[in-house]
Amino acid sequence: MNIRERATDILSKMTLKEKIGQLNQEAFIEDKYEEIKEKVRRGELGSLILANSATSGNDPQQKIFTDALNELERIALEESPSGIPLIYGRDAIHGHETVLPIPLALAATFDPELVYNGYRCVALEAAKDCVHWTFTPMLDISRDPRWGRCVESPGEDPYLGAKIAQAVVNGFQDENIAACAKHYIGYGAGEGGRDYYNCEITDYTLRNVYLRPFKAAVDADAATVMNSFNTLGGTCASSGSYLIKTLLKHELDFKGFVVSDWWSVAQLIKQKLAESKKDCARIAINAGVDMDMADRCFIDHLEELVKDGSVSQETIDDAVLRVLCVKLRFGLFENPFSRRKAMNYSDHDSIAENCSDEALVLLKNKNNVLPLSKNAKTVVTGPMAFEKRSLLGTWILGGDMSRVSSIAEEIKKANENAVLPSSKYLWDDCYWDIPDSDAVIVLLGESYKMTGEANSLCNIDLPREQLEYVKKLHRFGKPVIGVLCFGRPIGLEEAEPYFDAIIYAWHSGTRSAQSITKALFGDINPSGKLPMTMPRSTGQIPIYYNNAATGRITMAYYESSRAYWDRSSTPMYPFGFGLSYTKFVYSDLSPQDHALSIDEIRNGKKFVIKVKVQNAGKCGGKETSQCYIRALKSSMIRPQRELKGFVKKYYAPGEESYIQFELGFDELAFFNESSDFVVEPGKFEVFVGSDCYAKEYITINVKGTRD
Ligand code: BGC
Repeated sequence: MNIRERATDILSKMTLKEKIGQLNQEAFIEDKYEEIKEKVRRGELGSLILANSATSGNDPQQKIFTDALNELERIALEESPSGIPLIYGRDAIHGHETVLPIPLALAATFDPELVYNGYRCVALEAAKDCVHWTFTPMLDISRDPRWGRCVESPGEDPYLGAKIAQAVVNGFQDENIAACAKHYIGYGAGEGGRDYYNCEITDYTLRNVYLRPFKAAVDADAATVMNSFNTLGGTCASSGSYLIKTLLKHELDFKGFVVSDWWSVAQLIKQKLAESKKDCARIAINAGVDMDMADRCFIDHLEELVKDGSVSQETIDDAVLRVLCVKLRFGLFENPFSRRKAMNYSDHDSIAENCSDEALVLLKNKNNVLPLSKNAKTVVTGPMAFEKRSLLGTWILGGDMSRVSSIAEEIKKANENAVLPSSKYLWDDCYWDIPDSDAVIVLLGESYKMTGEANSLCNIDLPREQLEYVKKLHRFGKPVIGVLCFGRPIGLEEAEPYFDAIIYAWHSGTRSAQSITKALFGDINPSGKLPMTMPRSTGQIPIYYNNAATGRITMAYYESSRAYWDRSSTPMYPFGFGLSYTKFVYSDLSPQDHALSIDEIRNGKKFVIKVKVQNAGKCGGKETSQCYIRALKSSMIRPQRELKGFVKKYYAPGEESYIQFELGFDELAFFNESSDFVVEPGKFEVFVGSDCYAKEYITINVKGTRD
């Protein structure tokens, strides 16, 4: 019997009550253990979330009680009416014990294979603690750095988002942990960067932008999807059937189950879409939500709703079947207990360190002041000097702090002459030492608690006290090296002139300090690229590279225009930007075919674009070469540039090699006015280079006539 047949067979023997139990998820709270045992015995629980509060990303968390969880599974198998195991879910967002960089920083690596390897480590660690299911990856396209949750996202670009989506889903699921693509959908588009807020997205933008990473996750066979909190055009994912039933389950052919976000079913009352929890349950299950997280709307009301005919038996059966299929697929019927595999934490550390190495983005390096010599007399200062917890970032429920070093500590190991601050609290006591120093390293940043859920900011500029401090340091006339540990892009226009070099270090996980130190002293060459535009200041938001051309001030993102009287219209640093200690030169950009017919493209033929990349500097380094397209004639307004490929590769000093990009149906197509995914005949410009400002371009031609 295949999984679906097994699930159907199990379903056929279940009572309505048992079925509804499978659709209920509650939180595992230590003090309620006895109560939970009874619920499992009665078959009232299909799942437990291993978190103790709504905003568990930044709240203190209880540890995982493996023995208690194993015992609950035993009860589920042996004493519950249907003998169906529980599925345990947890937010292993970017780490469990070993912590990878925040997801936004992982996207900055532009290295899906590395991200995949990183998440396999997370999965292995989580599995030994009874986790079967992770609420990862978060795939909300984020164009607003005020939004605290952009930290969890792959950034502003749908293509990069799709690549990261696949890497994360595969990383978890290859280690037998069910993934969950969230938050479906439009959560990143909340007005003003406010969390949980209203957003308006046209169907055109929904399909061409916001849905893309979710489609990639579904195509990678993600087991589950979580619906989002936000409203969207007068509806929301737990209220109208279009988003989940029509788009996700029907059009994208998603076969897994949809779990609501924490209390997002009961919140329909606050949104004035429902008057009671019973009403909430009716609306949500009919909208396509299969499992209800934490608010007990389903378990308390579905039976009554089926009996009075407001919810059909088929709706319940479909939801339960989906849940059972996931439980069968991930082997829970055979072994729901904690799964221990030999684990090598030093391997995990080194993969986490590769991730943090590759996530660092070098934003400025005046006169090649970096890398510093290990004999240099450096003065180390700044609020992040001895900070450890914030280096891990938000959404870390149980990261192993014993393996985290502070940046100051690591710098001292590499650079004996470094002068460190006297203490965590007195980090600004360096003025006497600066005159005799070769450089000042100032470690700036924000607390992990400034990012994540319900942590939006109105002003994203470098905090004023940090700006004033950097200005003081600058007055000494020594090179000022800024290491910026933030969970979001920040506005740097005012501060930038006071730095000689800037390493954007994010919150980069367990090995943050080691990676930063290596970059400062040249043991690695930074290669991260921005997955989100860095604005000059808050007033420019929203600002993203793949904006549509206007008929007037056409190139606002790409060249300064009169978009504002008081500021340049260009970003501080564009999407895809990141310097290196070496220099890469592009030449010889050429397509194999200048023209292909639309039929050839439909039949799988692709434009093959080749380009020569040369490392023209004196040290080795990695470059992420990026390929962007621009349709020159289209039935609808298309973005000025769209990322359609990237190749990250190491080049030895002086090395030159050809790399190639392939542009076929998927890369050239878009969803048109009728929501059809089409390639339209016409010319496209193809740009290749180091960031979205890539200048080298060629033109290709899709021949044919429009349908
Ligand atoms: C968040 C989700 C998270 C869930 C469970 C919610 O508040 O929005 O991202 O997975 O809680 O912790």
